[in-house]
Amino acid sequence: MATNSPNRNARSIAIVGGGLGGLSAAAHLVSSGYRITIFEADSHLGGKSSQFKSNGYTIDAGPSVLTMLPIIETVFSALGEKASDYLDLVKLDTLYKANFASGSDPYGEGSISVRANRDEMIEEIRSISGPKDAEAFVRFSNYLKDLYDAEFNQFIDRNFDSLLDFLKPISPTIKLLKLGAFKKLNSIVSDYFTDQRLVKLFSFQSLYAGVSPFEALGIYAVITYMDTIAGVYFPKGGMAQLPIAIGKVLTERGVSIRTGTKVTSILRSNGLSGAVTGVQLEDGARESFDVVISNAEAAITYKQLLGYPSPPRKIAKNEYSPSALLMLMGSKAKPGAEVAHHNIFFGDSWKEAFVELINQGRQMTNASTLVTIPSFSDPKLAKGEGSSLYCLEPVPNLSGKIDWKNERENAVNNFKSSLRRAKILSDDPNDIEAERIIDPLDWQAMGMEMGTPFSISHRFFQSGPFRPANSDKKVPGLYFASASTTPGVGVPMVLVSGRLAAERTRIYLGDR
Ligand SMILES: Cc1cc2nc3c(=O)[nH]c(=O)nc-3n(C[C@H](O)[C@H](O)[C@H](O)COP(=O)(O)OP(=O)(O)OC[C@H]3O[C@@H](n4cnc5c(N)ncnc54)[C@H](O)[C@@H]3O)c2cc1C
Repeated sequence: MATNSPNRNARSIAIVGGGLGGLSAAAHLVSSGYRITIFEADSHLGGKSSQFKSNGYTIDAGPSVLTMLPIIETVFSALGEKASDYLDLVKLDTLYKANFASGSDPYGEGSISVRANRDEMIEEIRSISGPKDAEAFVRFSNYLKDLYDAEFNQFIDRNFDSLLDFLKPISPTIKLLKLGAFKKLNSIVSDYFTDQRLVKLFSFQSLYAGVSPFEALGIYAVITYMDTIAGVYFPKGGMAQLPIAIGKVLTERGVSIRTGTKVTSILRSNGLSGAVTGVQLEDGARESFDVVISNAEAAITYKQLLGYPSPPRKIAKNEYSPSALLMLMGSKAKPGAEVAHHNIFFGDSWKEAFVELINQGRQMTNASTLVTIPSFSDPKLAKGEGSSLYCLEPVPNLSGKIDWKNERENAVNNFKSSLRRAKILSDDPNDIEAERIIDPLDWQAMGMEMGTPFSISHRFFQSGPFRPANSDKKVPGLYFASASTTPGVGVPMVLVSGRLAAERTRIYLGDR
């Protein structure tokens, strides 16, 4: 593929941040011949998609579940490439192994494996939950596909200039109404399945959007579709290979990528007002650009880069998603139980657990947790015969009631005990050869609002046209591409946010 060589007089774009949102924006702009510079404060690209490497173990420290390959492919195809030429993608046969606790026994209520192959999944449900639920799965997976098709182009992959835009054309909204997408997610899933384990399995995904399945509307079942139907992948070498691969192609196409370079302010034509004119860097240097795309969180962009005393009300009033206690461990012992790449341990309380986590800001009494074992699909990510372990417990963000300075040790010990009961960790603490623990205070120290890596939650009035917009009429030439703007949180969504910011940029520069 020929190198794109932007000419020196081409219009110029600064992208503040080399996270997946920023990289996607660049990828979708390259073919227009602009001079593009990505400024990344960290020493590596990828933002939250980073890795912990220690003592022979490599473990992703951010996203672990890679879904929606077609959206990833869109980024590569904007660059004239194919993802498979840059990433060694493993398609997981078992997307998740879900284990259901009874009291303190993590496997007490059995396990269900979510299979990539539809017939195998039907068989799995038939053997565990019976023929009625197996038949319900066929109808449910068709329903999820219909929902996704009705939502994607109209509500996810598009820019909105007003609330009315959201309803134009009206037919997809009518279709969603007919699909019952505005009913509560939990009740939609409960209408299909009799086995409560399946209800949990197909509705917990709303938590990825920061909302309980009892509060979330059915439209959030698109996350269930992405997570359990559309396929889950793992790039060998870890998830961080994705930003590395995009960065590699961008460099080949002439994009200037400056890691270790922090932007301290976005410059405007009249000081604190007017159109953007460039950026100022930490060393005081000022560089001119026609457009700035901010991949930093919207609230942080306003406060730190535009010098606003506080973000505009539409952003300041938002509620943030719960956070995560993340334990990354290299263990020389193999798990003593049958495991898959992704393992979910459902605690035996359900509705109350969401109330504790989201409404009361407390740790869940019987927490549901995610254990990902990257070395399951790529043994090179562990030392010798050992395992690399990514263990995540949802916990309240910093608006909650936990004093992490004093309570961290206890929370970590409890989580480790539950991992020992599940035979993920051995009983010998010396088996842990590498360890990194990240709590909400650590996420906050990494610059994340409210100490959560999951940004503004997706409550209905913080989603779609209600989510902070990716442009601001008062700041011409500034666009946002990140989880804190439309369409939202998660790798597929931030890749779409980059495309949407690119579309706005092209219109602003008169190059539609
Ligand atoms: C623990 C965890 C688990 C997750 N699990 C999943 C999952 O399984 N599946 C999934 O799809 N998603 C998951 N996510 C969410 C997903 O990772 C994020 O939504 C997404 O990566 C956010 O990308 P972004 O581009 O918005 O922001 P970021 O990744 O935060 O990138 C922003 C970048 O901007 C840089 N930056 C900020 N300010 C400046 C400045 N002033 N100057 C220069 N650079 C700057 C930052 O250093 C950073 O690199 C997870 C996230 C975490 C942390």
